[in-house]
Amino acid sequence: MPIKNFDAPSLISEVPEESADNLSEKLVIELLSVVAPDTEKVVRNTVKQTNALIREHIRAETGLRLQDQNRHHTVPVTVSDGLPTPLSKLITNQFQQALWKLAALQRRLPEVIHCLNDIIQSWDTLIMCGFRYDNPSATTYLRLAVNLCQKLYSFQPPHYIENAFRQIQKDVLGTYSYKSFLDTEKSEPGSVTIYWMAIGLVAHLLGVKAEDLTVVTLIHELAHAYTHAGCDHDGFAWPNHAFSNSDLSVIEGLAQFYTALITKKLALRFPLAHQAYEKLLFYQPPPYHFHTYWGSGPRIRETVRYTLLQARRLPSISCSEWLRIMEETEKKLEQKTFSVYHPHK
Ligand SMILES: [Zn+2]
Repeated sequence: MPIKNFDAPSLISEVPEESADNLSEKLVIELLSVVAPDTEKVVRNTVKQTNALIREHIRAETGLRLQDQNRHHTVPVTVSDGLPTPLSKLITNQFQQALWKLAALQRRLPEVIHCLNDIIQSWDTLIMCGFRYDNPSATTYLRLAVNLCQKLYSFQPPHYIENAFRQIQKDVLGTYSYKSFLDTEKSEPGSVTIYWMAIGLVAHLLGVKAEDLTVVTLIHELAHAYTHAGCDHDGFAWPNHAFSNSDLSVIEGLAQFYTALITKKLALRFPLAHQAYEKLLFYQPPPYHFHTYWGSGPRIRETVRYTLLQARRLPSISCSEWLRIMEETEKKLEQKTFSVYHPHK
């Protein structure tokens, strides 16, 4: 059975992007072992602790369930080693490698500077204790080394990595994949994969905690699963072909909309998760920003939910059609609200 990644640009691409280049993995492991050695454990624990909670929030917001009278689906979540190909390619570029290495080095430099300063300050004591080094300029060299390290530490390379990251029009911290039934109208739930190395790497890049970025990623991927395969009260889910043919901005916009909403709802437990979502959003390409044009009025949650239910019944949905349905839906909801509060007008 072919497996399709939801955001592949066409149905031709059926290969899951799970393969990762050994070199880039090695670099990421090297970097993480210095800056965040417990990343894998943190990601695995966060997924375990929040999986059910996040699903509960998505069900509450969308009204969609992964079951109807006849079927009960599960969408398993796996935490995986490796890097999705687009991210792997970003790292294996020789120039990028140097930048990743610099990022790792910069984290270690304060300790090196501290150590060198300690040696300079203790130099006379070391000589008194019998230490011998036959170069009268030793302390000058040490001071030069401190100066060099300080310069390296404050060096800000141009934002090549950030700009390259912005070009990737796919989910790279996690993925939602599903089985393709191209000749039927079925909608089958698939599975979610969370890439702990990618999360560790990007958390480091954004200056956020891996735990918060894991929450953001899990909400985003499960939102894909529920908006696609979740059944409404009539048992209807988004057919595969309609889901695949819809505009990427609508698909990503939906996942982002629920990520923004639910990270806010989880603020007591993960106070910085919403900030992690916002920081990541800054580096994401245009399709991931579509939801920011949907407004934030008092009826926005129900407007999006009703629009989603209608959009899933269409052969495909474009951005302009989505916005048109949203506008219509909001007007209807506004009229209903008005008539409830002003029944005689
Ligand atoms: Zn996505």
